[in-house]
Amino acid sequence: MSASVLLIYTGGTIGMWSDPRTGALRPMDLEHLEQQVPELERIGVRLGTVAFEAPIDSSDMKPTDWVRIARIIGEAYDRYDGFVVLHGSDTMAYTASALSFLLEGLSKPVILTGSQLPIGTIRTDAKENLITAIEIAAAKDEQGRAMVPEVAVYFEYRLMRGNRTVKVHAERFEAFRSPNWPVLAEAGVHLRYDRAAILPHRTGSLRVHDRLDDRIAVLRLFPGMRGEWVQQALSLPGLKAAVLATFGSGNGPTDPEFVGALRAAREQGIELLNVTQCAGGRVEQGRYVTSHAFVELGVIPCADMTIEAVLAKAMFLLGDEQGTARFAPRMAAPIAGELTLA
Ligand code: ASP
Repeated sequence: MSASVLLIYTGGTIGMWSDPRTGALRPMDLEHLEQQVPELERIGVRLGTVAFEAPIDSSDMKPTDWVRIARIIGEAYDRYDGFVVLHGSDTMAYTASALSFLLEGLSKPVILTGSQLPIGTIRTDAKENLITAIEIAAAKDEQGRAMVPEVAVYFEYRLMRGNRTVKVHAERFEAFRSPNWPVLAEAGVHLRYDRAAILPHRTGSLRVHDRLDDRIAVLRLFPGMRGEWVQQALSLPGLKAAVLATFGSGNGPTDPEFVGALRAAREQGIELLNVTQCAGGRVEQGRYVTSHAFVELGVIPCADMTIEAVLAKAMFLLGDEQGTARFAPRMAAPIAGELTLA
């Protein structure tokens, strides 16, 4: 019997058309999108489809939408072998990260894909992305188990772990990278999987989490950043945690005003997370004098996680029943392959 895949259409360029009046790209509905890909009939996979009532540009995705996608997968989980989420590329890495935490015990493929050009345009990258993503979602190993039992992003011939991806280019078809984890599969004449890089199979059932706490901020450090402004930003009412996008291997200014602003936040019980703003590599707090204050203040080093993964993981852990209890050790331990232990 052929494999079955549920296609979940949320929006993004892949399903957009150019409004002849304004020239702006707008989302089309799922039916029109399917008409653009007659190949879907011949793919040899039983396809189910579901769509957001109003498909959106991924800049409008919110944590509630991440939960919505997770629930759709949870409700259909036993009926399908795999899932393909059609999604705008702009915030795809955030959604992929969030889904990897929300879908605890996942043992089936959840493949996010999209495109840089709409599916109806002649030079589109959408068809290949869509067709191969479906093929990957349906793929089984010799024992009949899912080939990729995790949340992944497929884009321009490469499959990457979802919570390791970052969007690195606004125009190129090759828009995503996985700087700190190997590519899970490459599509050429053959689909070549790197089995050692793919998460091992999990036994047990799926648990869909649905609580995310969005009382979190991201502060990207820059030379000369004013300490008083950092203090203001960290005094936002209700703030629970702030991600500090730091320099190099996790460094920041030693300026007393800046350090004082962080200290005041810590005294208010705000969790501070250290993630590098570099495109790759890991945070090593204490390596330079410029990260000693972070160690002293109990800032949580986020190893080699992406900013997207740190943000989604922090929302997930804060939303969890345990809240801030054991927040730091849970942040530092891998949940879904999002970080490499040193
Ligand atoms: N703005 C679009 C989106 O993220 C871009 C894309 O799909 O590639 O929805």
